[in-house]
Amino acid sequence: MIQGPRRIALEEWDARYSELRRAGMVEPPYGGPLRRHVEDGDVRLLKLWFDDSAAALRLWNFLLTEEDRLRQARALGRRLVGAMKDLGVVPVMAYSSPRLTAFYPDGAWWIPCMMELGAGLLRLAAALGLDESFCPVRAVLGAFLTGAHFPIPDLLTCSVGATCDDFSAVAQRLNGLGYPILWWEIPARRKPDPGEPAVDLPGGFSAPRDQVAFVGGELERVRSALEALAGEPLNEERLSKGIREANRVRRRLARLRRLAYAADPCPLPALEMLIAEMLAIHFCSDREETVAVLDILLEEVGKRVQARVGALPSKAVRVFWVNPVADLRAMNLLEDCGARLCGTDFMFGHALDLIPEQAPPMEALARMARADPMVGSAADRADRVCAEMRAFGAEALVVSRIPGASHCATEGRLIAEIVEERLGVPTVEIEVPPVCDALTPNLRTRLEALVEAVRARRGK
Ligand code: SF4
Repeated sequence: MIQGPRRIALEEWDARYSELRRAGMVEPPYGGPLRRHVEDGDVRLLKLWFDDSAAALRLWNFLLTEEDRLRQARALGRRLVGAMKDLGVVPVMAYSSPRLTAFYPDGAWWIPCMMELGAGLLRLAAALGLDESFCPVRAVLGAFLTGAHFPIPDLLTCSVGATCDDFSAVAQRLNGLGYPILWWEIPARRKPDPGEPAVDLPGGFSAPRDQVAFVGGELERVRSALEALAGEPLNEERLSKGIREANRVRRRLARLRRLAYAADPCPLPALEMLIAEMLAIHFCSDREETVAVLDILLEEVGKRVQARVGALPSKAVRVFWVNPVADLRAMNLLEDCGARLCGTDFMFGHALDLIPEQAPPMEALARMARADPMVGSAADRADRVCAEMRAFGAEALVVSRIPGASHCATEGRLIAEIVEERLGVPTVEIEVPPVCDALTPNLRTRLEALVEAVRARRGK
């Protein structure tokens, strides 16, 4: 009997790896068994369930070798840009120069999860005055102080204005500690007044033309800093090419999301989808390889959809998920409770939307920055969530709160209320800390209740 795709634990990956190698799997230079990352300290992998395909293995290996890639880029003479907070804007500009590599130090917020708090980053942040009343993104401070998780960038940028209090506090502290930051402002997005000149944005929003022009001016300052760092101009031609390349990634992700969130049975588990979506924000420090990783995933998912096989049972409850989880284990838990992912808002929708290729490149980038779901109202965010839930046939909504995160205080409830009112589907709000083991029974009960509510509705 041919076995279909499955979710497997790390111990099973050891045997699966040998099996794939014997079957002729070709790996990139960063390939290898997943277990080696545990030996490097990523002990959370021991508690996760993974898709068992070679495509997923490559995705995980790509993600977990990013630090090596950054150090290699520096050794090859590329200058490193640490973009902070804008999630998807500055890296498109930076990768337009072959001399620059950009990444998000913000990603350090997953280190406490991956290392099960073993790296002590949250403790270091607390010693600097940012305790558990702040979002886990405070781990960024610890990562800078230890220098053990990514090389210190040659240039740091951070968007301010419509930014959460947590990140403002973290970035200001970082600046005060001697890591100078180029701040650029992104004001809160508002709807154009009647008759006010307006611009359509990617993702379906619109904004006053003046606001887009203002953000364009701010991005010009970022462009000048990137040019000084690269030692070469970031002219229109280079930026246009950078936008087209970013769109190559975004088009693939759009296809992957369409396939993975619509098909039944679910062809790719939630955890792998979360990681695949994350590639959009800074290409995991290698834009070309991101395209290759997504192509292989698309091929695998396409085959599964055609063969009507999936990594999860058919008819699993279709859930839309809002906000990234501080503990990746929560995505497994959703599936353990009989649900599957069917759309997401991980706070970077603007990094998934196509960047307009017909507009002048700086204008196109400003429009994309204006489309950031986190610089608009919760109602705007809910509009987009509702549209995607309809498109993917989602039957329920999970809003995942992040402990201490200021943006979560009221926004999640508002989004859930709008979704309940418009779509009439059950919703639940849960809070997921960086290591959620102690809360698992509670989380499980709440997710199972959601699943049961959907099943009861199906039976009506
Ligand atoms: S998770 Fe929320 S509070 Fe934390 S940095 Fe991101 S937007 Fe800010």
